[in-house]
Amino acid sequence: MSDFDAAGLGEWPALGYSAFRLDRASDRRARMPEFLADPRARACLIAGETVVLAKAGEGAQRALMPFAEAVALGGRTGEACLLGLDGEVPHIVLPLHAAAVAVLAEREELLLTDLRSIAVQGLVPPDELAELACGKAMLSWHARRSFCSNCGTKLEVGEAGWRRECPHCGAQHFPRTDPVVIMLTIDGDNCLLGRSARFAPGMWSCLAGFVEPGETFEEAARRETLEEAGIRTGAARYLCSQPWPFPMSVMIGFHLQAASRDIRIDDVELEGARWFHRDEARLLLTRTHPEGLVAPPPMAIAHHLLRAFVEGRDPPAG
Ligand SMILES: [Zn+2]
Repeated sequence: MSDFDAAGLGEWPALGYSAFRLDRASDRRARMPEFLADPRARACLIAGETVVLAKAGEGAQRALMPFAEAVALGGRTGEACLLGLDGEVPHIVLPLHAAAVAVLAEREELLLTDLRSIAVQGLVPPDELAELACGKAMLSWHARRSFCSNCGTKLEVGEAGWRRECPHCGAQHFPRTDPVVIMLTIDGDNCLLGRSARFAPGMWSCLAGFVEPGETFEEAARRETLEEAGIRTGAARYLCSQPWPFPMSVMIGFHLQAASRDIRIDDVELEGARWFHRDEARLLLTRTHPEGLVAPPPMAIAHHLLRAFVEGRDPPAG
């Protein structure tokens, strides 16, 4: 064993953004006008990176509010997206004009913050966090897809926000999700972590990168590890995935078997990469490392990939 104290990890934490419980109702999206008029409808409000939360007393916040209230606060119904149905109750995301943010920030009954902070600090219940992740990804897509990429005509919104349609050439455009592989490379009792200059001080995490056309997820994981850290890898084992609405990705998590050990970093992508012994990695997770080094927070998939290695078991099925 190493010199590091073994610290308890406790119960396995929830993966952020992943507790989506609504019926996506993809076969009922044509009923959107009816859903928008339903007095039971609930809505969340998002302006770019900013989410509007309603204070609910005792330090609690809720992302979902009565639909009429969200409209009164400035939610734009013309660009509404149906998140899904909770039983028969429609849940909807409404975009908010950026100019409204400063005004609403003055309101005492509201809390305006970003989705990462909401996840890290656990500001809303997990199912609402997942709905916000879906809503933010959908609105990000709409914000980037106003015009037809086929002919340049302004697009119309259809299917309760789940499609954009071109009135000129008939092309249909669907929300996209960009796959990102995230991987922990393992060599016996050691694992490979990297540091990007944009990370918080002291934080080390798994390597990650976008999947390229013509690649399997496993190939992308091996390529990124070789490009960023100069480490060759063999077997890839899938563990779990996480919606990552920054702006609209899904993270696909792997453990990779190391086939080489000498690190050579790509200093554009990383400012450091190094091997961590399992016992030291545990201290990153518990935030008790003597040098103040830390792993990403429990809501992040990187935390789960690292914990799976430290504990020698897979994350609970998501
Ligand atoms: Zn077109």
